[in-house]
Amino acid sequence: MNNNDLAQRSRSFVWHPCTQMKGLETLPLLAIRRAEGVWLHDHDGNRILDAISSWWVNLFGHCNPRINAALKAQLDTLEHVMLAGFTHEPVVALSEKLARLTGLGHAFYGSDGASATEIALKMSFHYWRNNGHPHKNGFVNLHQSYHGETLGALAVTDIAIFKDTYAPLLRGGVQVPSPDWRLAKDGESPQIYARRCAQVLDDYLAAHHEEIAAVILEPLVQGAAGMAMYHADYLRLARSSCDRYQVHLIADEIAVGFGRTGTMFACEQANITPDFICLSKGLTGGYLPLSAVLTTDAVYAAFYDDAVTRAFLHSHSYTGNALACRAALATLEIFEQDKVLDANRVKQSRMNAALEPLRELPIKHLRNTGMIWAFDVPDAPAGFPRRFYQEALAHGLLLRPIGNTVYFMPPYVISDEEIEILAEQTVSVLKKVIT
Ligand SMILES: *Cc1c(COP(=O)(O)O)cnc(C)c1O
Repeated sequence: MNNNDLAQRSRSFVWHPCTQMKGLETLPLLAIRRAEGVWLHDHDGNRILDAISSWWVNLFGHCNPRINAALKAQLDTLEHVMLAGFTHEPVVALSEKLARLTGLGHAFYGSDGASATEIALKMSFHYWRNNGHPHKNGFVNLHQSYHGETLGALAVTDIAIFKDTYAPLLRGGVQVPSPDWRLAKDGESPQIYARRCAQVLDDYLAAHHEEIAAVILEPLVQGAAGMAMYHADYLRLARSSCDRYQVHLIADEIAVGFGRTGTMFACEQANITPDFICLSKGLTGGYLPLSAVLTTDAVYAAFYDDAVTRAFLHSHSYTGNALACRAALATLEIFEQDKVLDANRVKQSRMNAALEPLRELPIKHLRNTGMIWAFDVPDAPAGFPRRFYQEALAHGLLLRPIGNTVYFMPPYVISDEEIEILAEQTVSVLKKVIT
């Protein structure tokens, strides 16, 4: 078996995500045989550094020995049982841990990020309905936001390429300006710009709060927008506007949770607790699909009743899957045992130093929050993302630009030597693609 065989068979029988399948005629699929740490190994003997953590999910490397061992033990004990009418140790232990970490309670589980968004939106609306405010059923999201691609999540997403085609299927929502500091006026600081954006949100809620259930946002970094970063003041002010006008704040930490921004959760940097937190991606260390929504005791209490219709009847077949919960527990154990957040601060400064040579190239907005880095390539040649992706693979790197933004979101186990490889090869790729 080689890359080519598998790529052909895949094209014949698999419908790949986020892909124009016809494009695979000229940009072949890569067949990965095995993976270890930050490295993917293909069927032709090449290795590729997974610098985007396989779509932002992997935290502690591929085939991590500790997560593998935990999963193997779980596999011989209990693989899955339905969570209505039943419970099990992994889901209980995980829920206790997540409650301690987030300051919120009662974890509700789904399988993907998008289902977490759906759960949070439905719960928020249902909370207001149970409390005699059925008209509070609208949602506010930020410009260039991304919350997933099922219909409810897509309605609060603002990425044209994913959304516009399906517009006739979506409920209209309200978008307010993104605090992305690249959009600040000349001479305006990220903080002042964030405050100006927060004022627009406040004005909107002042006028419309009676119809609004929740504001949903990605704290500190809007990932799919091209790693748009913003000042924590926006979160602080959004929190106080939501309090003032009795509107929920939903923090979508699907991408930024679990240490990505430098703290366990991004909201910690603004010292706020949201009404709902959505978690997925890194939750299982990149092993298995699992998402969770945690909320306040006040929200939970509004559903606790004799009437079945006041209950949150949402369900997914695999809710609280034991294997996925075990992977999550093993992942959280690594955070504790290895003092990961401290270790990441050292890696962050190494990476910042290694990326310095990029500044000599014609790039803009080199930026960093925690373990996320990005830069923009102004006046990029036509077809830039695809060409860059292809050239990066030829240099042994998995990098997948979003428009003209190149970003790095490496697994936390990346070593100093691998950081050097990543930085040096990126410079070579960029030189080749822009000249
Ligand atoms: C990836 C992502 C989602 C959707 O998660 P899926 O598992 O792809 O459905 C939602 N919100 C944010 C911020 C994301 O990055």
